[in-house]
Amino acid sequence: MVTGGVVSSIGKGITAASIGRILRSYGVDVTAIKIDPYLNWDSGTLNPYQHGEVFVTDDGMETDLDLGHYERFLDVELSGESNITTGKVYSAVINKERKGDFLGACVQIIPHITDEIKSMIREISSKTQAEVVLVEVGGTVGDIESQPFLEALRQLRNEEGHDNVMFVHVTYVPYLKAAGEFKTKPTQHSTKELRSTGINADIIVCRSELPIDSHIKDKIAHFCDVERKAVLNAPDAHSIYEVPLILNSEDMGEYVLDRLKIKAHKPDLYEWSRIVESLKSYDSRVSVGIIGKYVELEDAYISIREALKHAAAQLGTKVDIEWVRAEDTINMDRIRHFDAMLIPGGFGERGITGKLDAVRYSVENDIPLFGICLGMHAMVIEFARMNGFEGANSTEFDKNAKHPVIDIMLEQKKIKNMGGTMRLGSYPCKLKEGTIARNAYKQDLVDERHRHRYEYNNEYRQELEDKGLIISGVSPDDFLVEMVELKDHPWFLGCQFHPEFKSRPNNAHPIFVSFVQAAVDNRKNRIG
Ligand code: GLN
Repeated sequence: MVTGGVVSSIGKGITAASIGRILRSYGVDVTAIKIDPYLNWDSGTLNPYQHGEVFVTDDGMETDLDLGHYERFLDVELSGESNITTGKVYSAVINKERKGDFLGACVQIIPHITDEIKSMIREISSKTQAEVVLVEVGGTVGDIESQPFLEALRQLRNEEGHDNVMFVHVTYVPYLKAAGEFKTKPTQHSTKELRSTGINADIIVCRSELPIDSHIKDKIAHFCDVERKAVLNAPDAHSIYEVPLILNSEDMGEYVLDRLKIKAHKPDLYEWSRIVESLKSYDSRVSVGIIGKYVELEDAYISIREALKHAAAQLGTKVDIEWVRAEDTINMDRIRHFDAMLIPGGFGERGITGKLDAVRYSVENDIPLFGICLGMHAMVIEFARMNGFEGANSTEFDKNAKHPVIDIMLEQKKIKNMGGTMRLGSYPCKLKEGTIARNAYKQDLVDERHRHRYEYNNEYRQELEDKGLIISGVSPDDFLVEMVELKDHPWFLGCQFHPEFKSRPNNAHPIFVSFVQAAVDNRKNRIG
């Protein structure tokens, strides 16, 4: 169980994912759960400005971005049930109450809500048959929202036995410049707060800007009632992928396995170290502009950022990402130096003008352009406008568009609710011979994750193909356009799905690799 203290955003998710990666390196089978103590049923309706990207699982659940870290670090596919929210717990309990399942009992947080939480965790444990289930509790210890969850985890420790449940508390140890020292008091306070819920931390992971001194660890062990060797330090790392190596150099793996009495073979972090090395060593650089709406918060596009890194590492290059706000018309001077551009997914009209500008610029200047979901929509709209379909648009932005080249899906027309009602999750896509997509994937049929309401309008299929648009991917029944490309353009590819969710540090996504390669080639052509 991984809890957090002192402040938010200290990398609890990365810590949990790193523990998972370490255990996997010992050959232990691990799965992970993220608890989000908010009332939303899932993160689908949350504004990315607040919680960052909405991560989509294969089974079509809209989840917290930490599931993305888990999938990338553990190299597994998680089910949407791995994201437990207060909303899901309460609605399950209320549904049972309405059915009369509680036989007249007064329904309460203890035991009914806590029982539901425990049963959700156990369900995943038994479904996955994993040896270790990592459970990360979102928020900071002391939040009102997380109390029922901490209480459930405390109960779980008693029910499953102390040898089977352990707690890792992640805190922050600030360095006070004026005093010239690290301060342990916030960590002391937050472990005390945790203890007040009946939970004693087994391990304390101290996040810090710089490595902390040994006597600081002594002090934390002493005041926070943990073994000295269980105080681990995770100073800011060059890359998030270094964290498993850092924590394991502090013997995290040995300690956890010992404490949970799990027998394992020697750890093998060789492949992981190689990945970390390849992320650091490169012999060229390319600049990629991301033209998006939520550019102030990089977490809003976290899987795209990671997928670009994975692809760059595979190609021995480095991608320098520049974020361009797409709200208004784009000043071309802002984007002229890009080796390639990417338009990510999004919702609503705000920011569309800038995206269309970027598409036109790419078409006119042969700049590689990668459009994902809404990005693909922008590519189709602008391409149509440039080819005589004046007033082409998506009905998402203009219900009465003269040429609705992107339109709402038929089955979406009747839906009124916002949450969980899009076309979500994994669907197959059939690729056309001789296209960039087919050459990248080297397969005829691929499965990718979706999250959309609008789609390419088939009434404009032939007409736009005649103008040079290539439909390079379709659903197996040929109905839904999944990918578009452009004749006589070095690299222009839009996809209806979100390939970024399936990229892994050890297995970069083929489309991202192809895209970054196009950026490298374009740079060579331009600069030599
Ligand atoms: N807003 C668009 C739709 O619903 C695109 C969604 C996305 O980019 N994920 O189809």
